[in-house]
Amino acid sequence: MSPLRAAMPRPTPVDAQGARDEAPESVRTRALDRAPVVHYACKYAPVELLAGYGAVCEPVTYEADSFEEADRLAHPNLCGFGKSLISYALRDDVHALVLTSCCDVMRRVYDVLEAERCLDFLFLVDLPHLTGPAERRRLEAELRRLASAWEGFTGASFDVGRALASFEPPVARQDARVTLLGAHGPDSLLEAAAEAFDVPVENLTCTGGRRVVSPPARLGRVPRQRPCHEACDAQVPGPDPMDAFVQWYAGALLDQVPCLRMADVERRSEQIGTAGQRGIVYHTMKFCDYYGFEYLSVSADSPVPMLKVETDGTRQSAGQLSTRLKAFDETLVGMTDQMRFSAGDGPVYVMGVDSGSTSTDAVVVDGEGTVVASVILPTGSKATESARKAIEQVLEKAGISRDQVTLAVATGYGRDSIPDMDTSITEITCHARGAHALAPEAMTIVDIGGQDSKVIKLDRDGGVVNFVMNDKCAAGTGRFLEMMARTMELPLDEFCRQGLEWKKDVKISSMCTVFAESEVVSLVADDTPVPDIIHGLDRSVASKIRSLAKRVKAEPPYLMTGGVANNEGVVAAIGEALGAPVTTSEDSQLCGALGAALLGLEALD
Ligand code: SF4
Ligand code: SF4
Repeated sequence: MSPLRAAMPRPTPVDAQGARDEAPESVRTRALDRAPVVHYACKYAPVELLAGYGAVCEPVTYEADSFEEADRLAHPNLCGFGKSLISYALRDDVHALVLTSCCDVMRRVYDVLEAERCLDFLFLVDLPHLTGPAERRRLEAELRRLASAWEGFTGASFDVGRALASFEPPVARQDARVTLLGAHGPDSLLEAAAEAFDVPVENLTCTGGRRVVSPPARLGRVPRQRPCHEACDAQVPGPDPMDAFVQWYAGALLDQVPCLRMADVERRSEQIGTAGQRGIVYHTMKFCDYYGFEYLSVSADSPVPMLKVETDGTRQSAGQLSTRLKAFDETLVGMTDQMRFSAGDGPVYVMGVDSGSTSTDAVVVDGEGTVVASVILPTGSKATESARKAIEQVLEKAGISRDQVTLAVATGYGRDSIPDMDTSITEITCHARGAHALAPEAMTIVDIGGQDSKVIKLDRDGGVVNFVMNDKCAAGTGRFLEMMARTMELPLDEFCRQGLEWKKDVKISSMCTVFAESEVVSLVADDTPVPDIIHGLDRSVASKIRSLAKRVKAEPPYLMTGGVANNEGVVAAIGEALGAPVTTSEDSQLCGALGAALLGLEALD
């Protein structure tokens, strides 16, 4: 707790009409002692109005480490953003928050924070759904109510000149860029996007998408502040600057390109396919009522490539988010256009190393792209150490030293911790390239590894057209099958073998590992034949893959890679679920490392 807060009792938050009289003197004095930062979470927040009082406004992009406190105070079914907002407001360095009545979640957040009295200033702007004259007047009244509450809290006066100076006129961008669309842009997304893309990132999410038009010149001619009636001629009052400002400003706020919460969202299409836009990252928030559906309707006809990502208000998936955005960048630019390396003199050898969660694979190819040597080692608990061993062994098998390797390319989730590599490429791009080498006819790859599963749609040259990943839960991954084998007390190879001997369809209805496990226990207790239960589990994995495949509009021929490709029962069940045979390759486990090596080879001049 800050020394200031520790020394003072929590004041009543200022949030309504008459706030000027209710605000304790200590609060006003304290707020004026420093620049009051007002946090906001919505592009309709009246940032310029508050700037007229000298307030500094900052968007909330915070993600919590844990929702323990938020879950204690609010119903756990709030969206991740609602919970992260509560967690943020509980911080000692957050004093003022202006919300909009965006959705039920925001109203709940407001109720919780008001009851908690954790902020010095809390205000909920009632935001209309429409933009007609009546709604403009309603928002105008809300802006006056906020102004009055803020004056009461700070004792500051509105200066229209200061408000006008704070506008940042919207610019119609035409530069090469990637656009973020959808729900609130949290820190992990903003950071990963800034790092992943070579071109600038345009943020048009809830907070980044503020595009309020410039004020008309006539507003610059009104007096900067309310006339002082004591000193001036009280008989001839000039126009009230606040009146003049809010009458125009309410409409300007509502005239922004609408978010999905507004009634008429037709103009949202203006944000898609604009000049210079290379691609769109569409962000949804877990359990969000608004943004889950727009992606489905716009992605099918989008003139630019689109990637959907979801966050949950925490930074838990920051690593995977970064991989997805990087892979998306690789599809936008073309991997080998991005990186060029000198082939140097002498024979060419390129090494690819794939550091996965279950195995670490290494491949060396020669200048013709022929595999010279390969190894597969378990990753174990130390990814860096496994990678070091894999490199040592593959070089030994190839009969070359590290100095003779022209280029070393890392991939896989542990790619950044592999020592002594020349460059890295995401596993999505490498899998696509490797799969194209193993089965040039394949148009879709189903990759099921120990910790995640992905479906990658390819073009005829092995380039990535689209991809989708499940890395959030065990359903549809090798981990799910391992856990079920353990529940049935079978070694994994025996579990795979017995799954082929099924006679009768058994439906495992839950995809969640915990619930599926109890279904398995009940089936065992009912004497259901073990092969039938295993087949039911294989079909459960296949059903998860089918839903991923639908999202990328997968088409045959299918190639399956990853460790689970060795499980014939799962391969057959996926073929059945997708309605077309799924082939495998005996080298499918090396797919990522092979792709890394081949992409490296193509990047040599
Ligand atoms: S959905 Fe609309 S109203 Fe809600 S926070 Fe985002 S921009 Fe604001
Ligand atoms: S993420 Fe969706 S549900 Fe959550 S506050 Fe924003 S608009 Fe509301």
